[in-house]
Formats: sequence, structure tokens, C-alpha cells
Amino acid sequence: SHIMAEYRQQTPGSARLYERANQVFPSGITHDSRHMKPYPIYVDQAEGAHKRDVDGNDYIDYFGGHGALLLGHSHPEVTEAAQAALARGTQYAASHEPEVIWGEAVLRMLPGAERVRFTASGTEATLLALRLARAFTGRDKIVRFKGHFHGWHDHMTSGYVSHFDGSPTPGVLPEVAEKTVLVDSDDSAGIEAALGRDDIAAVFLEPTGGSFGMIPVAETTLHELRRLTQANGSLLIFDEVISGFRCSPGGAQQAYGIQPDLTTLAKIVAGGLPGGAVAGRKDILDWLDFAASEAAGRQKILHPGTFNGNPVSAAAAITTLRIIETTDACERANRTAETLRRRMNEVLADKGIGWSIYGTFSGFHVFMNPEDRTIDPMTFDPLSVPWKELKTKPADAANALRLALLLEGVDIGGWPGGLTSAAHSEADVEATIQAFSRAIDRLKA
Ligand code: PLP
Repeated sequence: SHIMAEYRQQTPGSARLYERANQVFPSGITHDSRHMKPYPIYVDQAEGAHKRDVDGNDYIDYFGGHGALLLGHSHPEVTEAAQAALARGTQYAASHEPEVIWGEAVLRMLPGAERVRFTASGTEATLLALRLARAFTGRDKIVRFKGHFHGWHDHMTSGYVSHFDGSPTPGVLPEVAEKTVLVDSDDSAGIEAALGRDDIAAVFLEPTGGSFGMIPVAETTLHELRRLTQANGSLLIFDEVISGFRCSPGGAQQAYGIQPDLTTLAKIVAGGLPGGAVAGRKDILDWLDFAASEAAGRQKILHPGTFNGNPVSAAAAITTLRIIETTDACERANRTAETLRRRMNEVLADKGIGWSIYGTFSGFHVFMNPEDRTIDPMTFDPLSVPWKELKTKPADAANALRLALLLEGVDIGGWPGGLTSAAHSEADVEATIQAFSRAIDRLKA
């Protein structure tokens, strides 16, 4: 279409790199959600709320490092801390003070954290939390919400992309998939039935709803889950890989006032560098503890990992968490997103487009109205339609919106939808609204 032709014209350097990448990587990419047509932009610099591609185009960025960057790109203090750490060595294969300071910050900030263990990614965190839950409860199954994302390992794959029915994913053994009981977040009877079973070790969910609220979960459901898991003797596990240190300094659990048994973390917890963590009750994390396991006469859970608690991530993390703990960074990001959602909806209402921008905290999502309902963008309630409808994006329309916004200097990321940071200014918001308005006009042209 005309949008794709203009995109090619604006990004010849990215086109050339993508051609090379296609000879190296499947689909030319290194992360599934960076896939887009005709090809993704190639970025070589980022600062604050902006990033720049290899052709010199500047974008206001709402992809936010896949959620890792609450303070924006290359925050000066974070960069300085990481650089200083880099010069002192990247891998000691030894314990070090920064990891202790980092762990102390997690315990201080996150209400449910009595102990923490660092991992190298969020995927590793959910895998470790799962193992802890099975060991602690002596049960083998988990309950998960369809459409919620917890990384890509075997136990978390069914029920996500296109396999909403839980049918097996290529490469995942059916006997592994069968250990997952999938529920719909809007089916309270189904949730109650799943938690009436006696073989459930844990419930995993994104407390904000799948993809940071693209598929919202009612707050009453969160409280109900706390009650049901307690009654059932299963663990409540909040996957706060995105929401942790974002919704509030104490994550979604602090914002909602609900304490999970375990929390999985990554992204912001590692200061925007590689890293993750499992935090939670001491009696559960004691399954990783040599002395506690010996005293209990049981084998401890195995958990090595070359880059667990690595010193460069630790330095970035300590600085990032300190800024989040001592400033209004979370609140600023939340307020910016609220303004964006309202103003983008004003644009949609003005132009008579039957979409809506919704979300909570520092997120926003585009409801593309696949069933052509009559809605008011300003008052649309995402809990009023089935969650599959929220997630259904006519593929061409979603890609066209992404491209049209890129042409106007805004990257809303691959959901499509985005995340705000504390670095987005009022001028950025104003420019985004103008860009959004022009992008919609491009789509209509
Ligand atoms: N859980 C959630 C909620 C996530 O958003 C992600 C990543 O986007 C993960 C887990 C997996 O984390 P990682 O990409 O670090 O493996």
C-alpha cells in the first residue's frame, strides 16, 4: 500500500540490514515480537523517551525496551553505574556486595518478598517459581490464564499465542502441556472449579491482566484468587516481570494490596539489563537453601546459572531501584499514560473511528473492535467484551497502524499498544497526539 511504500522510502538503511539479517536469523529477527512487515526498523541510539534508527529517523518510543525501562533509555545515573561496574569486571564467579545491596532493595520495596533469588531472565524466573511451587506443595499441576504471557519455556507455552485452547505447541510434549489447567480470566465458575482440584500447586497470572492489561483481570478476581488458593493450599504466583517496580515502587501487589506467595521479576528489576528474580515467602524459597533443606531431610532444589546476579546488572539495578524508591517515577509514568489514553480517544471520537485506547497504570492498548460494535472510545470498558475480542487485531490493520505511526515518528511497539516511562515529557505527549491524529488520517486515505 501507499503506507508501506513511504515506509520503505524513509528506512533504506533498515531495509539493507534486514536483507542481511534474513540470511542469518529465522525471519531475520531475534525476538518474535519484533516481527513486522515489510521489515523492522534498526535502531542504533536511544536516549530518554526517544530512539533513533540507522537512517537518522527519530521516534518517541513506547516499546520501552519490552517494558524494561521505566526511567527511559540510557538514564545518565544508570549508565554511569553500569559503566563503572563494567570496568571492575563482568563475571567474578564469586559473591559480591552489589548483589547483596540489590537483593536488599527488592526485599525492602516488594511487599511479598522475604527472600529473593536472581536469575538471568524472566523466563528462568517463571521456571524456577514453578519448580519451587511443585516442590513446596508436592502437587504437579498449575492453573494459568489464557492469553497471559510468562516466557517461552515448555510449561508456559500452551494457552498463549494462537493456542488459546491449550492445544499442544510444536516441540512441547503433550504430557507437559497436560500439567497446565487453562482458565479464562472472565470465567469465575471455571476459576473456582480449577481451584477446587486437589492437584494444583499454583496459580500463575499477570496481576494487571495479560500483556500488562491488554486482557484485564477484574480486581475482584484477584482477591478471589487469593482466597481460593489459600483455601486450596496452592500458591498464588504473581508474574510481575512487567508490572514489578512499574505500577508502583512495590509493583502491582502494592498497588492492589494483595500479597502473593511468590513473585517473578525481570526487566526493571535488573535496571534494564539482563536479569530476573523470584521473590517471596521464606519457607518456600528455603527449598533453595542448603541448611534448611538438610534440616528438613530433603533434597534442595537445583539452581545454578552463570549470569545470576551479575555485577553489571546489579549496578544498573541498584541505581534504578533507588530512583524508583525515592522519586515519583512510577506515578509520572502512570499519569502520562492516563493523559495519552484520554487524548488518543479524543482523536478517535473526533474522527469517528470505532476503536478505543484502554489500559491501566503506565500501559495503553488499542481495541480494534473486530466485531464492529458500536462503542464510545472515551467510555469503552474492556471488561465488557470477551477477552479474545480484545486480543483480536485484524493483522493488516495492526501492522498498518504501526507503520503509519513510525512514519509520524512514534513507535508504539508490537502489541500494538505501549508503555510510558518517567522520561516522557508533556512535549512528547503533545507530539504523540499530533502524530496519532495524522497516522489515523493516513490509514483512512
Ligand atoms: N513474564 C512476563 C509477564 C513478561 O512480559 C515476560 C517478557 O516479556 C516474561 C515473563 C519473560 O521474560 P524474559 O523475556 O526476560 O524471559
